[in-house]
Amino acid sequence: MSQAKNTITIKQLVAAITGQLEPSQFQDYCPNGLQVQGGSEIKTLITGVTASQALIDAAVKHNADAVLVHHGYFWKGEDACLTGMKYRRIKTLMDNNINLLAYHLPLDAHPVLGNNSQLAQLLGLTVEGGLQPGEARPVGNVGSLNPPMSAADFSQRVKQVLNREPLLIGDDETMIARVAWCTGAAQGYIEQAVAAGADLFLSGEISEPTVHTARELGIHYMAAGHHATERYGVKALGEWLAAEFGLVHHFVDIDNPV
Ligand SMILES: [Zn+2]
Repeated sequence: MSQAKNTITIKQLVAAITGQLEPSQFQDYCPNGLQVQGGSEIKTLITGVTASQALIDAAVKHNADAVLVHHGYFWKGEDACLTGMKYRRIKTLMDNNINLLAYHLPLDAHPVLGNNSQLAQLLGLTVEGGLQPGEARPVGNVGSLNPPMSAADFSQRVKQVLNREPLLIGDDETMIARVAWCTGAAQGYIEQAVAAGADLFLSGEISEPTVHTARELGIHYMAAGHHATERYGVKALGEWLAAEFGLVHHFVDIDNPV
């Protein structure tokens, strides 16, 4: 939080984020960038994980000019009509002249500001490579935990950092030295984590088959929360923008146990 020192245009804001995240380099399930247009002058920026009604209502309270999120709207396969919940969210944005900007995979993958990089810093993981070998902009990483610790101790660390009890599949005593991680709902990448030689794969969510896969392939799995693992990219991007342009910035954490 800081006093507004400056106002920039929405064009400048979008250009600055485009320069950092390079969204054109990703094949994504949603449009990345300005999703709903509002006023042309930006002084106050709200960041949050998901563009829910609660986040938009908080933005209205803060008199925000723009909301920047990881999970926006217009996902592939979703009903395109502006009715019901989607109508109410977008009407609130438009009635209050608030811009909505959303960045999905580009915000997972950014080597500094991204969800995976930020989570690694918080958990004390050293990035050694991408979860998809040979991929120029990998979503998810593999790296080391220094010094190695038992699965139970690592679980305790994750709980303290994220303020949420993770679900650990695998025994408590195994020493964890090599970790693969991918924020959000990346449980489907578990076999890539095995191929990368990880002792433990951490993601946000878990599915029923994940447990059997982990047991049969001999890897520990940790579900640390989709929301909890994806708070930090958008927050870091907001802080970077606030420092760069002298904007007022508030990260608003709308609690989500998943
Ligand atoms: Zn996500």
